[in-house]
Amino acid sequence: MTTTAAPSAPVCPRCHKVPPLCVCTGIVPLDNRIGVLIIQHPQEQDVDLGTAHLTALHFRNAAVRVGLSWPSLAKALGRPADPKHWGTLYLGSVKPASLLPGQDVIALTRKGAAHPDQRGQLAGLEGVILLDGTWSQAKALWWRNPWLIKTTRIVLGPHRPSRYGKLRREARREAISTLEATALLLSKLENRPEIADALHAGFDKLLDRYREREKATRTSVG
Ligand SMILES: [Zn+2]
Repeated sequence: MTTTAAPSAPVCPRCHKVPPLCVCTGIVPLDNRIGVLIIQHPQEQDVDLGTAHLTALHFRNAAVRVGLSWPSLAKALGRPADPKHWGTLYLGSVKPASLLPGQDVIALTRKGAAHPDQRGQLAGLEGVILLDGTWSQAKALWWRNPWLIKTTRIVLGPHRPSRYGKLRREARREAISTLEATALLLSKLENRPEIADALHAGFDKLLDRYREREKATRTSVG
């Protein structure tokens, strides 16, 4: 008998969660004008609280790709696309608080400064790319996909702490889940607050289920 790995529980084919954490039933995909591409680092291990698939299920125009590198945006998407018309959310070592006070979504120059033409950079975006993983995994994805540099780099301004609360310890205050980042980004870029509301409702359900399961585990153990 092997003790190296627990038998993998069957996961939901849509949200990739085990049954106690599956909250995807009843999600009605939103008609999003700006496409969403989530690139997930292959070693992203947060099977319980990861949000890549749950996020994508909320949109008609969204995809999750798992892997380290693609030769082009078109190959990652599986359809023709010009990276010049896409944006990539990548924080790196930028400190958003020092860029543009009061701004939620900030377009950067290649040197990591606030772009002088915010409106022009953000207005024509056809899609946004999110790098799903830890801070260092996102950094690896950024460097392993040089075509990302052709996209408009975006960071999110200082915002309230993640809904994860104490469930997850993030190294930086700016770190929020892929779902929360997408909620902020798309609701601002499309000027539709209901996008954020729908995503947050899904996320809150996941966190509730997670806490319930943790409580049940503790009760049954001791
Ligand atoms: Zn599910």
